[in-house]
Amino acid sequence: MSLNIQKNGEQEVEQLLITLLGDSRFGSWVAGEMALGKGETIHLTNPATGQHFMSYQDAGEAIVQTAADAAMVAQKLWWAKTATARGQIMWACGAKIRQVAEEVAQLESISAGKPIRDCRVEVAKVADMFEYYGGWCDKMTGQVIPVPTSHLNYTRHEPYGVVTQITPWNAPVFTGGWQIAPAICAGNAVLLKPSELTPLSTTVLVKLIEEAGVPKGLVNVINGLGHTTGAAAIANPATKKVVFVGSPKTGGIIAAASAQRVIPCVLELGGKSANIVFNDGDLDRAVVGAQAAVFAAAGQSCVSGSRLLVQRGVYAEMVERLASATSKIPVGLPWLDDTMVGPINNLTQYQHINSLVNQGVAEGAVVASGGCRADIHGGEEGYFYRPTVLADVDNAMAVAQEEIFGPVVSVIPFDDEDEAVAIANASRFGLAGAAWTADVGRAHRMAAQVNAGTFWVNSYKAINVMSPFGGFGESGYGRSSGYEGLLEYTQTKSVWVETARDAAIQFGYSIE
Ligand code: NAD
Repeated sequence: MSLNIQKNGEQEVEQLLITLLGDSRFGSWVAGEMALGKGETIHLTNPATGQHFMSYQDAGEAIVQTAADAAMVAQKLWWAKTATARGQIMWACGAKIRQVAEEVAQLESISAGKPIRDCRVEVAKVADMFEYYGGWCDKMTGQVIPVPTSHLNYTRHEPYGVVTQITPWNAPVFTGGWQIAPAICAGNAVLLKPSELTPLSTTVLVKLIEEAGVPKGLVNVINGLGHTTGAAAIANPATKKVVFVGSPKTGGIIAAASAQRVIPCVLELGGKSANIVFNDGDLDRAVVGAQAAVFAAAGQSCVSGSRLLVQRGVYAEMVERLASATSKIPVGLPWLDDTMVGPINNLTQYQHINSLVNQGVAEGAVVASGGCRADIHGGEEGYFYRPTVLADVDNAMAVAQEEIFGPVVSVIPFDDEDEAVAIANASRFGLAGAAWTADVGRAHRMAAQVNAGTFWVNSYKAINVMSPFGGFGESGYGRSSGYEGLLEYTQTKSVWVETARDAAIQFGYSIE
């Protein structure tokens, strides 16, 4: 059922925060309570109306320190529980999230500008994540290694202790759940800094998991700016690992700050993924798949299929059909049920999209659909951009090389398989890719040759918490999701136990 939002959503957000957080004041969530920041004031703007709807203050170093102290205490308590008990609590988190899923989805939609239909799916996926990793808690077995001595040698997967997670604005609650669940499954405590632009849903998520039994202080949300609060969390001696999801530019800063402290980091960064359509592909499915690949979340998705490579035999037909279908996509206010494409999250990002499209046109790209602002009744001041198809793009153009992170697809022609691979790989990124073809051999050749952490055949954007996800090249390193994502939150210890009665004598030292 669509929501009825008055003006800029201020009242609705306040009411949702009272229901979900028990407080309409907003700050950080530390050791199970609200901690109001004293730093710079951060103003939140409703992306659909362009109107300010609430403000809060940057957490800063003092709140980070309180959170780090709480996290160190809670982590020891959490790790001292049995694996079964931790798993049961995590499973209960899933149930708790499902109980208030609609309210969390509404909060996300109004405050982040994401279509409510997408928010409902993402909140349900967060519940899945806690259940999936809850199931792993008592299955994190080590190995017994048949060493060539009389030792029993076995491995243990141990937590780092406290990990800092830093997340972006495009899928706030989803990304928060995505990283919190494996971290606590592995026995860690968390300092999580969401984007300063979209802090609400992540904060609510942590309150909910505490209500399900996660100890207070195990997961702390420190809300504020990157260069102050985020940097303070990485610099804090309690932090033993950093997991960053965001832009490549900030990723470099995070990697450098982590290296300075000699702590490891995982980087989940941007992309410019190639969605490749061959002459023998099913065009009906490819036209739909190409739209789902790039227009979902108004293109504000790291795996977005923003480069559409089309073989020349079907190029003209593909562009024509895609442009026609794209012009019919319902763009609208995010809280309405039938909206498929909502606003861009913030003005800076909107301007970035607009300027890259203009640059593309100046470099010779042809606008086949969109290419301008979308006029939305009730969202006249909002950041709406029409789903856009740019045809005749050359892979060297900025629209093919820069991450637009908006509802814009650059369509590039190619002649044969080798050229498709060459174009797909002529990118500094390597997050995802896809091929649409009826030739099974070609499908596997493409999967093997395209540099990408995820590759789909006759599909796009199928992701699941069970399957590893991450980047090649400047799309980052390390993995999230699945067992590999879980291992990122553990460090392996090798334990040697001597079983031979006269073993000490082997060392050759005197016993007296
Ligand atoms: P961003 O890099 O600007 O910000 C991400 C986070 O980093 C924010 O929380 C920000 O406050 C923080 N930050 C900024 N400077 C910092 C500093 N000096 N120290 C510590 N923290 C700092 O990214 P964004 O604009 O919020 O998000 C969009 C980007 O995220 C896109 O590039 C997108 O592709 C990427 N992304 C990647 C994935 C993935 O899984 N690979 C998923 C979602 C988004």
